[in-house]
Amino acid sequence: MTEITMPDPPADPGPESDFDEWTAWLDREIAAGRNPIPPERGPAAQGLTISLGDATDIDPELLAVVCGPDGLGGQSLGQQFGQDAAADALQPGPVLAALTEQAVDDLGRLDDDQLTGVLRASQRLANREAWKQALVIAEFARRREAELAAATARGVPVHCRAGEFPGEELAAELRITGSEAAAKIETAQQLTSRLPATLAGMADGLLDARRAAVISDYTASLSDTDAATADRTLSAYAMEKRIEQLARKAAALEMKLAPEAVRARKERERRISARVEVRREMSGNASLSAREMDTASALASKAHIDAIAARLRTAGLDGTLGAVRLRVLTELTQGRDPLDLIRAGSPAEAGTQAPAADPAPAVPDADPAAPPVPALINLIVPIGTYLGWSTAPAQAGSWGLLDAGETRDITRAAARHPATRWCVTIIAGRDGTAIAHACAHGKHPWVAELPADGRHPSRLAHPPPGSAVQSPADVTHSAQLAHPPPNVGAQLTALFRRLNLTFRPIAEGGCDHASAERQYLPSRALRHLVRARTATCTAPGCLAQAVHCDIDHTTPHPAGPTCQCNLAPKCRRHHRCKQAPGWRVEQPAPGVMRWTLPSGRTHVTTPTVYDV
Ligand SMILES: [Zn+2]
Ligand SMILES: [Zn+2]
Ligand SMILES: [Zn+2]
Repeated sequence: MTEITMPDPPADPGPESDFDEWTAWLDREIAAGRNPIPPERGPAAQGLTISLGDATDIDPELLAVVCGPDGLGGQSLGQQFGQDAAADALQPGPVLAALTEQAVDDLGRLDDDQLTGVLRASQRLANREAWKQALVIAEFARRREAELAAATARGVPVHCRAGEFPGEELAAELRITGSEAAAKIETAQQLTSRLPATLAGMADGLLDARRAAVISDYTASLSDTDAATADRTLSAYAMEKRIEQLARKAAALEMKLAPEAVRARKERERRISARVEVRREMSGNASLSAREMDTASALASKAHIDAIAARLRTAGLDGTLGAVRLRVLTELTQGRDPLDLIRAGSPAEAGTQAPAADPAPAVPDADPAAPPVPALINLIVPIGTYLGWSTAPAQAGSWGLLDAGETRDITRAAARHPATRWCVTIIAGRDGTAIAHACAHGKHPWVAELPADGRHPSRLAHPPPGSAVQSPADVTHSAQLAHPPPNVGAQLTALFRRLNLTFRPIAEGGCDHASAERQYLPSRALRHLVRARTATCTAPGCLAQAVHCDIDHTTPHPAGPTCQCNLAPKCRRHHRCKQAPGWRVEQPAPGVMRWTLPSGRTHVTTPTVYDV
């Protein structure tokens, strides 16, 4: 708790000119080097005390810096907002609010770095405002609940009780829907009752309302003890990550801690909320979507559409891949065969132009009579889930998470398909980063003895999974060797022997260039090594899947080697950024990327931490 006592205004402050007089006097006093002691005050004058609250319970030295000649009162306010300077790190509260108010008064005098600092400060202040709102809404809800409980106890009939419609009351005040208001109340109650770390993160300005709502939603089904654990884990994670990453981690944690609740929710929603929706797009066009689908079935449908679309594109059908996919969906849902578009008899539909810039997946066989090729999903499957001793969820490309049952369905289907290729990545139990990777050579039509899972009979009409970019199909397994059951060694050895795997280590800290290659384009094995180490684009905050990224030489070839220590995935957009003026990317250690942005701010990204 910090308090600043302001000098009182002169006695009998009348019209505004009196205040001007007082400030002029104050300026003269300060210029003369005297402490500004207010002149004699009248009996009615009150001291003005600003209480800064716990949020600004800051180091007095820091307070001196921000309130000193370079802070609130000086000319060089901007410097305080440079990366890691006082205001860039200051907790949200009245001092930071005053500094940002002053900064936005004349933004023109700030450089890019300082401007970014003001933006980040303003975000922390907004997050603290969200914290205040949560406290207020929770208190409001507590009062209505107490009234409702009292009315219920008195035997007042339903719909005649006080406190019965808090959501509607809040909705009317905030001009939002009743269900939005109910969600706000639910989140505020969760935050204030059993998510103290998340709530503190908001108070410190480090977590926004959306992230807090994600944590609240995914922990609602957990016991108090599990929720407390999840609160600590997720709130720390949320501060550095994008909301999609947080949602994925929160969902994974919920699947691990309360798999039955998740399963029940999915089944309930499939039963009562399954539907096909037509909506209006912002552009004025329409969208058609299938809601609350079974995951494996949705992925199989998407893979089927992708495979036909790839074939139509190869045969010369015009349009972007997205437009061709939509065409396939339209034909299928209107009872026509999309392959008729390229069969004799409809030549007008088959364009003769070269395919557009949008990269089409390779289709080995474009014979229109053959059944669609499978695939286009990259799966990351924890080995324990595959072998049946863990319920850790698998990841399906950028789509998200699969529970253990869905994972077994899909890997079973993939195993039956001759184009499926298998890779194994070993994840260190210590920090969750990849330490080695092996690619099985060639195609492996292969069915392992998969554990029977009676609750999840296979629902797949078409074997779905498969390739991402060049190879027809990749299914990646992550092996978690931290806490395996007693017989796991034998299970893994059998699996690896059958796949004839040779593991290559992933460089960490330094590099002996053992994986270096002479040519410019890295081999498939080296690309896999780099993508196993870093599963997304390495730009700060980018989540583009590495499997769809360019494998870029950090230092251009041949000055920089074709080696793990000089290669990293970059999505096409960030690859272009890297080459634009003001952007700089370095790789000080294998997989550690330092990005310098045009503002001069730097961000470091590190190898992927897998959730297994
Ligand atoms: Zn591989
Ligand atoms: Zn190297
Ligand atoms: Zn990117």
